[in-house]
Amino acid sequence: MKGDFRVDLAFDRKHLWHPYTSMAAPLPTYPVVGARGVHLELEGGRRLVDGMSSWWCAIHGYGHPNLERAIRAQLDRMPHVMFGGLTHEPAVELARLLIRITPQPLKRVFFCDSGSVSVEVAIKMALQYFRALGQGRRTRLLAVRGGYHGDTFGAMSVCDPETGMHHLFEDMLPEQLFAPVPSCAFDTPWDPASTAELEALMEAYAEELAAVVLEPIVQGAGGMRFYHPRYLARVRELCDAHGVLLIADEIATGFGRSGKLFACEHAEVVPDVLCLGKALTGGTMTLAATLTTAEVADGISRGPGGGAFMHGPTFMANPLACAVARASVTTLLDSDWRGRVRTIEAQLTEELEPCRQLPGVADVRVLGAIGVVEMRKPVDVAAAQTRFVARGVWIRPFGKLVYLMPPYVIGSGELSQLTAAVVDLAESAI
Ligand SMILES: *Cc1c(COP(=O)(O)O)cnc(C)c1O
Repeated sequence: MKGDFRVDLAFDRKHLWHPYTSMAAPLPTYPVVGARGVHLELEGGRRLVDGMSSWWCAIHGYGHPNLERAIRAQLDRMPHVMFGGLTHEPAVELARLLIRITPQPLKRVFFCDSGSVSVEVAIKMALQYFRALGQGRRTRLLAVRGGYHGDTFGAMSVCDPETGMHHLFEDMLPEQLFAPVPSCAFDTPWDPASTAELEALMEAYAEELAAVVLEPIVQGAGGMRFYHPRYLARVRELCDAHGVLLIADEIATGFGRSGKLFACEHAEVVPDVLCLGKALTGGTMTLAATLTTAEVADGISRGPGGGAFMHGPTFMANPLACAVARASVTTLLDSDWRGRVRTIEAQLTEELEPCRQLPGVADVRVLGAIGVVEMRKPVDVAAAQTRFVARGVWIRPFGKLVYLMPPYVIGSGELSQLTAAVVDLAESAI
């Protein structure tokens, strides 16, 4: 079989960019030929238990019949038509469903093609809203350090200024305001001092601020931290006090990952704008949504130039993606996802706990179906990958973080395979 690869790895290495890698010295990539249930199948037949859910997305695992059926049925009708001047059932019914399951005031929906774009749309909504209200001075955003919101320019401007690679684009990015990392952890006693700097910033810049942008409760790719619900509740109060919009980026946390359907529910907070993506289609296709209130939408609509909201991607509300999203959300709601996530949380807590005693480990934390082991030093990703693949698991650390966010359908034996591999890596402290 040597030389008979169906995936041309040499071509891949020479010509294809992978996420956040150098073309000159890329990390090794593994050829995948299929995915079923919680397994990825590599060329050559090796099967790996997927600990990443393809970056938060594949909450039902791979090849779920409901999702495949929805894609096939929609493919027979039409995979895509433009959304300018046309509409279709998959978009209308998905919007109806999202309006039903998100907080009651969120009733206006903008569909777009990726998480980053949904953040751009959210930012644009906030800016257009204040312009329409005659408060054109409100052009700045306040974000928190340790956040991640995507890789396009507007989204990048609210990512953590250090890990978010601001230094590469310093003179091109709008200058936003940053509060410190929310320091009060999810499961520690509430420390009101943790919002002090944020409060001072909001006070000082109240007249210039359009919106606060943050990931509710779980900071994902910016550090995998879980912060206290009272922090989020306080942000909501401050936004109200200063007439500032709250944009909640639930692209990673949406659809049950944190133990609530949406992480805002931990604090019973309702944002003015909500970004959804990733697990929206159950990991099958790219789709995102930005939801807002009638108040914000009506405000924008009273604005100059006829009040049009100025965004409209080519693949807006792609019917194939909307159809499978509806199937995914329905499948989730019909399942005992709360029980599944709680069971995963308990097992992650128990099986990752031994890492805490290890000299190379700085912290262990679990929330919902997310388990994180933070090392003291950055992990050698290539070496860790090799080790994980040899053990039959797919886990991809970044920086000092080794973390798991498995599909909710994972069995306890498969989850133990993942946690054992993490413990093994933490012991060797690669
Ligand atoms: C992944 C992610 C994004 C960006 O989504 P893309 O689909 O990769 O553009 C934005 N915000 C959060 C919280 C994310 O996890």
